[in-house]
Amino acid sequence: MDNIVCFRTHHLNPPWSLQSYLKVGGYSAWKRILVDKVPRQTILASIKASALRGRGGAGFPTGVKWGFIKAELPGQKYVVCNSDEGEPGTFKDREILLMNPHQVIEGMCIAAYVMSATVGYNYIRGEFWEPYQRFEAALEEAKKEGLLGNNIFGSGFDFHLHTHLGAGAYICGEETALIESLEGKKGFPRYKPPFPATYGLYGKPTTVNNTETFACVPVILEKGAEWFLKLGVPGNGGTKIFSISGHVNKPGNYEAPLGISFQELLKKAGGVRQGHALKAVIPGGSSVPVLPAEVASTLNMDYESLAKAGSLLGAGSIIVMDETTCMVKVLARIAHFYTQESCGQCTPCREGAGWLWRIVHRITQGQGSLKDIELLEDVANKIMGRTICALGDAAAMPVLSFIQHFREEFVYYVQHGKSVVYSQRTSRSRKFLDYSGEVGGFISFG
Ligand code: SF4
Repeated sequence: MDNIVCFRTHHLNPPWSLQSYLKVGGYSAWKRILVDKVPRQTILASIKASALRGRGGAGFPTGVKWGFIKAELPGQKYVVCNSDEGEPGTFKDREILLMNPHQVIEGMCIAAYVMSATVGYNYIRGEFWEPYQRFEAALEEAKKEGLLGNNIFGSGFDFHLHTHLGAGAYICGEETALIESLEGKKGFPRYKPPFPATYGLYGKPTTVNNTETFACVPVILEKGAEWFLKLGVPGNGGTKIFSISGHVNKPGNYEAPLGISFQELLKKAGGVRQGHALKAVIPGGSSVPVLPAEVASTLNMDYESLAKAGSLLGAGSIIVMDETTCMVKVLARIAHFYTQESCGQCTPCREGAGWLWRIVHRITQGQGSLKDIELLEDVANKIMGRTICALGDAAAMPVLSFIQHFREEFVYYVQHGKSVVYSQRTSRSRKFLDYSGEVGGFISFG
């Protein structure tokens, strides 16, 4: 059941060419829609019935999002693909653009048709030079083949698709910051409402979807909403690309059905490295709450199960940490990232993220106090829900969850000025082992 949606050209050589994509049925849905003049509402109903949810992190139902834009209203509308993949731990969109760019193009074409948008943009992360070139080459192939442009297949429908390279700011992955950036301005998130569906790019109705979300669309229309729905679990249709990194033997992207157990995914990634015991998992990218091994081990990887367990599926970016990991240092690394990436527009995030980083850093330098742990919680709670965009919460949630699940490690660090690594192999009751050296637990983010 793996590699049947977004990675379905992986077995072909080269997987990214138009010929390879056509071989797996690519662009058949697009042609059928235009030639048969399939009603927009029929397509929208299929997307809704498939239970496709946004793959960028929020998990919002795609069909509902598309339905916010009224195709019949006159005026310019836009379709935008968010390929500004910057969440630490996430590296799936890069691979989709590299290996199967035509499927993203076809997904965007179909979305444009549903919303009656004649122009689209793929906003690609600035560092993704190779995926950008691959996508550009695919666009040229599609144009030559008459799949894009004016009066496509004599249908009277026009769609022009362009790429735009970002400039390396994490915040431009937030859809309204992305829109601002696309307009040539600083990537500052906008106040909402109004939402992009009513006031988006250049003030026109706009839908922004993630790369993987668009890549799912053609397959839903080729094979049917029910087929897609049944791949996953109720309310979570399809497969998902899980980016697995950290302390596993075979890090990488794995396409698997939504609802797959964490244990099964871990097995696909070769298990925890060097036979170590699992300690903790960040299941959806660095911004979501961390889960201890005993919770993660029993998880199913779908939106509801993760929410019930106190975390989020996010972009499906699983960061695995083994028993050698110092949780205080991991949090310091994460906190540093968010203070660097705050756009500075609102006070709780701009000041609070800096406070969080400085306090955790102070602890890692052996200069912390027990009050610092409470202060961390206090600052994080004052950021949560009080900012313009979700980056504030993204900075706060790791802090709260790391302390919630691993408070003993923070206390130990403060009291001893160094890390503790507790072993779940020796005891299920969390026996502490003193650890005097450097902890090899730094997670390298993909
Ligand atoms: Fe900028 Fe942070 Fe406010 Fe978002 S929450 S608008 S990143 S300052």
